[in-house]
Amino acid sequence: MPAFKTIDDLTNIEGKRVLVRVDLNVPVSEGKVTDATRIERVAPTILELSGKGAKVILLAHFGRPKGAPVADMSLSLIVSAVNEVLGQKILFAADCIGPDAEQAVAAMKNGDVLLLENTRFHKGEEKNDADFTAALAKNGDIYVNDAFSAAHRAHASTEGLAHHLPAYAGRTMQAELEALEKGLGKPAHPVVAIVGGAKVSSKIDLLTNLVKKVDALVIGGGMANTFLAAQGIDVGKSLCEHDLADTARSILAEAQTSGCSIVLPIDGVIAREFKAGAANEVVAIEAIPSDAMVLDVGPKSVSAVNDWIAKAQTLVWNGPLGAFEIQPFDKATVAAARFAAEQTKAGKLTSVAGGGDTVAALNHAGAADDFTYISTAGGAFLEWMEGKELPGVAVLSK
Ligand code: AMP
Repeated sequence: MPAFKTIDDLTNIEGKRVLVRVDLNVPVSEGKVTDATRIERVAPTILELSGKGAKVILLAHFGRPKGAPVADMSLSLIVSAVNEVLGQKILFAADCIGPDAEQAVAAMKNGDVLLLENTRFHKGEEKNDADFTAALAKNGDIYVNDAFSAAHRAHASTEGLAHHLPAYAGRTMQAELEALEKGLGKPAHPVVAIVGGAKVSSKIDLLTNLVKKVDALVIGGGMANTFLAAQGIDVGKSLCEHDLADTARSILAEAQTSGCSIVLPIDGVIAREFKAGAANEVVAIEAIPSDAMVLDVGPKSVSAVNDWIAKAQTLVWNGPLGAFEIQPFDKATVAAARFAAEQTKAGKLTSVAGGGDTVAALNHAGAADDFTYISTAGGAFLEWMEGKELPGVAVLSK
């Protein structure tokens, strides 16, 4: 990863207009923000800049309004939640460009924080349109990107602005990039990756990249069935993408070439219904009854996974080992997560995890706080694990 400028490189910003791209795409139900994690993540950057006397102008998207204003995707809905997290009142402008934005910016005092309306209310945002980007840039002297989770998109507010204004990574972006660098960029070996979740089809690029970079790849969850079936194992009624057998075999072959050990389940927890509390038993992986499905990896498999975690210096994790939302099929995910958390706490492991359900699974295991870094970015984290260049990150490079 090339070096990038951070807020540490910003001096004398008192009175400067700093456009800060943040991720405020928080879940809202009945007008209330139900999870303020994303606001909490960007608060340090906002407060630091405001504390240094900058005029902090927040740019963000909210939902998918497709280039036109949509009332329930207005960022005005989250102003009070932002106030609460920051512990100070922010200002709001009803548009992110044009007279509304310009007047609101002109009225700002040093240290003020102004939230501009949803950037995606304009078609130019997602098109990274030159005129729209110039209109955004007009309101700022400096650009800070603190939205790693949107960095896989080359949009006006995530990429375009960096071509108009001096560009810096915010504190959350910086922490994310530093953690990811430790995870796969320049990791301490041995590196173990755990990839679980439902389907191989959504993670082909990710698996293909990982086998080239890690020392061991643990494949769990529903996707393990596709690999097992590709090797001739009868997986009964388990979730399985039989049409991806060739893909699975070529990933296994690639792993062999690059010296990556593949760790597949050796036992599984089977049930006949996909529901909490369903009757279940542990069977060897070669003994899956034809009318049953594997909903979690078994205890012997967990031991094998934990043996790898014990040997590893670095762990990267995406996707649960089983159907963790329904008990008792959360056991393997919980056990491996807790062990990884313990190893991390003991200073023996750098653990980086992220992507959609993974955060929920590690929270469920009570392990999230002890991981070295948990990325709340979904798509951007996956693209990073796939080894792809993220446009919003590339453009920040020094
Ligand atoms: P993903 O979004 O691809 O990471 O997939 C996460 C989903 O995979 C979760 O909802 C899990 O319930 C599901 N999952 C994990 N293991 C299994 C399994 N053995 N059978 C069915 N679904 C599974």
